[in-house]
Amino acid sequence: MAPENDWRMTPMSRRRFLRGSALSAATVGATTSLRSAPVLSLQQLSASAPLFVSTWPFGKPANEAGMAVLTAGGLPLDAIERGIGVTESDTTNSSVGLGGIPNAEGVVQLDACIMSGPGHRAGSVAALEGYAHPIAIARRVMETTRHVMLVGEGAGKFAEHQGFERGSVVSAKQKAAWKMWRKEQQQASRGEGKPKNHDTIAMILLAPDGNIYGGSSTSGWGYKLAGRVGDSPIIGGGLYVSNKVGAAGATGIGENVMRYCGSFLVVELMRQGMHPQEACLETIRQIAAMDPKGFDLSINFIALDRSGRFGAAGTGQGFEYSVTTRESSRVLQSPGLTSTDIGPVGGNRK
Ligand code: ASP
Repeated sequence: MAPENDWRMTPMSRRRFLRGSALSAATVGATTSLRSAPVLSLQQLSASAPLFVSTWPFGKPANEAGMAVLTAGGLPLDAIERGIGVTESDTTNSSVGLGGIPNAEGVVQLDACIMSGPGHRAGSVAALEGYAHPIAIARRVMETTRHVMLVGEGAGKFAEHQGFERGSVVSAKQKAAWKMWRKEQQQASRGEGKPKNHDTIAMILLAPDGNIYGGSSTSGWGYKLAGRVGDSPIIGGGLYVSNKVGAAGATGIGENVMRYCGSFLVVELMRQGMHPQEACLETIRQIAAMDPKGFDLSINFIALDRSGRFGAAGTGQGFEYSVTTRESSRVLQSPGLTSTDIGPVGGNRK
């Protein structure tokens, strides 16, 4: 195993963690991958709160918007909503919010959820049509109803009732691409598309007071069947927060995450003492050990814990994720896992 992928953690006191924690110094000794973002050693994956970790390079401006909210005295949930809202508003992003990719019928159906560590509260919307900011609506579900999840038409009615502005969510570019895709599908007599053009903003936050929050938002699997819901709005699937332990979020093919309660599993492994990075890697190993597709899953996780340790892992080459503190904001690369790197697995591989 390459040194940069060494996930094993030697016991380390909290004091030592804090001493080595400045993310601004994180490049020292970091290994640069073939891609531009560095893979950090386990010891470097630690920072002081407030700490935002989110999926993909597009998570960086989202984290920074969240940090600006905290700096201005806003609440951590405002920071999550605002940060994810930045990605939802970005029309150049083809997998979240306004620029999101439509389903097989040419309609953009958005999924999102939010969780608050304090009170272990959650809100979620799925297959929502006509609203660009599902994260705000998910938060409203959490804060104003006794429910956790609203879907489809009911979620839309709720949004309308709450005063959210309805509008066209599908962009002209996405509509044109969908029309071409549709033509090809009709010629080949196929239904839903292969999984492509999918990504999610999942954002997790260790707030200055030590509480933990998270959110996630996506248009899901491009050209999915109408009504398809992925892992992203599923509590425990695409996002999970335990205020006592930490938080995790996911991106990738939702079907390969939600069947295993992926984010819940990452948090559960942290509860058992694993470093967040180790927990992300072990979750992928356990899923791959159970899944007929092995490591051919296209799944990625981010995680952080109460002490400010964080990490990420993905199948294949690993993926890029964004980490923001008061001192720095950067894109890092996670270690990747393939079938040649099975390592310790708690599942039963035959
Ligand atoms: N997890 C999302 C979904 O399956 C897509 C992604 O993050 O790539 O809907």
